[in-house]
Amino acid sequence: MRIDAHIHHYPPEICKNPSAWADAHQELYWKSLVTDTEQNKSLQAWASTEKLLADMDAAQVDYAILLGWYWKHPQSCTFQNQWHAQCVKENPQRLKAFASVQPAAGKQALEDLEKAVDQGLCGIGEVFPQAQGFSMQDPTWLSIVEWAIEQDLPINMHVTEPVGHDYAGKTHCSFQDYEWLAKTYPELKLILAHWGGGLAFYELNSSFAKTCKNVYYDTAASPLLYKPNIYKIAAEIVGADKILFGSDYPLKAYPKDPSAPNFTRPIEEVLSSGLDKEPTDKILGNNAQKLFF
Ligand SMILES: [Zn+2]
Repeated sequence: MRIDAHIHHYPPEICKNPSAWADAHQELYWKSLVTDTEQNKSLQAWASTEKLLADMDAAQVDYAILLGWYWKHPQSCTFQNQWHAQCVKENPQRLKAFASVQPAAGKQALEDLEKAVDQGLCGIGEVFPQAQGFSMQDPTWLSIVEWAIEQDLPINMHVTEPVGHDYAGKTHCSFQDYEWLAKTYPELKLILAHWGGGLAFYELNSSFAKTCKNVYYDTAASPLLYKPNIYKIAAEIVGADKILFGSDYPLKAYPKDPSAPNFTRPIEEVLSSGLDKEPTDKILGNNAQKLFF
């Protein structure tokens, strides 16, 4: 089965005018990433559900996992969770979805999350403490982590790399925080997005690798950040079992390619990475199938 474990999908009222929606809902961090500013041309593109499904068909993607956003306001989380639940209900053979959560909202956050999972969502995230304004030791956040373990739900966390070029949304995050989380909650199925901001490479350290036994890495936005040989090298370091293909669709992962965003090109990158068939199949879907089905 071919699965894209990291895409984003927004309702028509957001796609129509993201900037106005962001202003009306005070989601200014999100706005700075998805709309053009004087300093920065956004890489975000938009797709209707029809277009999403057609693009999946074109690349023979069986399932896509809709990831939530790291919203500032709990109302935005609820809004997106309801949209995700509707998408999954209408396309149960093609889509699964994670729930957004804002732990800084306190006790309400967990109650909202329980409702979202009742509506059919199958994981939590992306979560991004630095952008949402809570600490890794925040008690509400940890109650969410403990609940996720109880429910056997994976959590996807957005991680940025500490080096390289600057871009909108490159907010510093501490690798030690993620290490602490993985060490404190070894049963948590933790997915670190965007290769964990490069944290995957530290699994060459055997003590850290032990800590990360239950940590997965997704490949979202990889073409924007890393050379294509990363698939082979990362598979050698962490093992192909721990890598989940994600495209970050409809992000323009190949800004110079006018035909993108699509699923074909990032999948092609994995297929031509020099990995054997078995690890390639794991990355392109078998691992996600084990985790989410
Ligand atoms: Zn992300």
